[in-house]
Amino acid sequence: MTQANNDASRKDWDTYFMDIAYMVATRSRCNRRHVGAVLVQGKKLLGTAYNGAPMGVEDCLEAGCMIVEEYALETVDGAEKMVKKERCIRTIHAEQNLLLFTDRNDREGSTVYVTDQPCWTCANMLANSGIREIVFHRPYPKDSEKVETLMRSKGIIFRTIDQYEPPAKTSRAVIS
Ligand SMILES: [Zn+2]
Ligand SMILES: [Zn+2]
Repeated sequence: MTQANNDASRKDWDTYFMDIAYMVATRSRCNRRHVGAVLVQGKKLLGTAYNGAPMGVEDCLEAGCMIVEEYALETVDGAEKMVKKERCIRTIHAEQNLLLFTDRNDREGSTVYVTDQPCWTCANMLANSGIREIVFHRPYPKDSEKVETLMRSKGIIFRTIDQYEPPAKTSRAVIS
């Protein structure tokens, strides 16, 4: 292999850290959604987290998901419609666990890589956590506009990565 080929096949940093986030997500025991998040300062990995029940408490595999139903306004074929959605509320979201298990000082000016676009609550907490940038892969349309407005007003870089393929067997279908 030539040097050029070596460089081309070497993972860029976005891919490298998003791959780690997807590997971390495989630890999740909520079968509805496997989410992973990592905290990166410069090029240094400072924390990893996934969505899960509090430690020592029965998780979704043991006790089943804790489902709540809610209605969301969605545009279907150009018409706005109320759609019933189910959500598991047993787990602490990956981003929230990341904040619980990292230090404020480590987070100042850092980047969070997360497999899924943060929900409103996570985005709100991340906005107050010291981080400077959020990179996500899978979109999460609920409250997306509110989240983007919040990020703009906080000056947090909020971006997705294009043409990214998660590592094999790490990405499971998301039930939303
Ligand atoms: Zn669950
Ligand atoms: Zn969340």
